[in-house]
Amino acid sequence: AGRWSLEGMTALVTGGTRGIGNAVVEELAELGAVVYTCSRKESELNDCLKKWEGLGLRVSGSICDLSVREQRVDLIQKVSSVFDGKLNILINNVGTNIRKPTVDYSEEDYSFIMKTNFDAAFHICQLAHPLLKASGNGSIVFISSVAGVVAISSGVIYAATKAAMNQITKNLACEWAKDNIRINSVSPWYIKTSLVNHLLEKENFLNSVVSRTPLNRVGEAEEVSSLVAFLCMPCASYITGQIISVDGGMTVNGFY
Ligand code: NDP
Repeated sequence: AGRWSLEGMTALVTGGTRGIGNAVVEELAELGAVVYTCSRKESELNDCLKKWEGLGLRVSGSICDLSVREQRVDLIQKVSSVFDGKLNILINNVGTNIRKPTVDYSEEDYSFIMKTNFDAAFHICQLAHPLLKASGNGSIVFISSVAGVVAISSGVIYAATKAAMNQITKNLACEWAKDNIRINSVSPWYIKTSLVNHLLEKENFLNSVVSRTPLNRVGEAEEVSSLVAFLCMPCASYITGQIISVDGGMTVNGFY
C-alpha cells in the first residue's frame, strides 16, 4: 500500500451501522481496505450492507451483541475465516452510556456499561491478537472519549471505561510492539450521532457544550473517522500508544 492508502488491508470495525463506526467503515473502505463490521439490529445492518455494495465498497458483516462473551468469540471466528486468519486493522468502536448521579447507579447499570464499553474492547483485543500478528502489520484504534481524559458530566462509569481504554492503549503499545502491532486511542468530544442527539436537541445543553469549545460547535462523525484512518496508514508507522482528542480544542481550554 502507498503511504496514504489502506489498499490491500483488512479491517474489523465494531458497531458500523450508525454514528462514528459508520463513518469509519466508509472511510476505511474508500481508502482501499476490505472491511468487516457488526451490530445488534439485523435489518439496519442489512440496509447498510446493501448501501455499501451499491457504492462499490467492500464491506461484509454479521449480527453480534458485543456485550456477550460467546458472541465475541463467534465474531472473531467469522472474521478469521473471511480474512484467512489475518487482520491488519481493529477499530474498537462500540460504546454505550447511562447518565445518572453516581449514587443512583444500579448493579445492572454498572455491568451493562462496563461489559459493553470495556470488557468487549479488552476481550476483542485478546481474541484478535493472533490475527493482527499474523498480518505482519497490525493497528488497533480505540474509540474512547474526552470523558476518559478530563472530568465531564458524562456519568462516572462511562468515564472510567474510557480512561481504562486510554491506559491499556499505552500498555498494549509496549507489549505488542514486538508483534508489529500499533495501538492508539481517539478521544472525541460531542459528535452528532444517535448516541447523543437527544442531548444536543436541548438548547441549554448544546449551548453549554459549545461555549466550552474553542471551535464553537460540536463535531461530525467524519471529523473522527479521518484521524482513525490516518492512524492505520503506513504513514503513521511511528505513532503508537497515543491518546489523541478530537474535540474542537475543548480539553486545552483552561479559561478563555
Ligand atoms: P451510536 O449509538 O450512534 O452508534 C453505536 C453503533 O454501535 C451502532 O451501530 C450500534 O448498532 C452499535 N452497537 C451498540 N451497542 C452494541 C453492542 N452491544 N454490540 C454490537 N453493536 C453495538 O454511537 P456513537 O457513534 O456516538 O459512538 C461510537 C463510539 O464513540 C462509542 O464508543 C462512544 O462512547 C464514542 N464517543 C461518542 C461521542 C459522541 O458524542 N457521539 C463522544 C465521545 C465518544 P446497534 O444498536 O444496532 O447494535
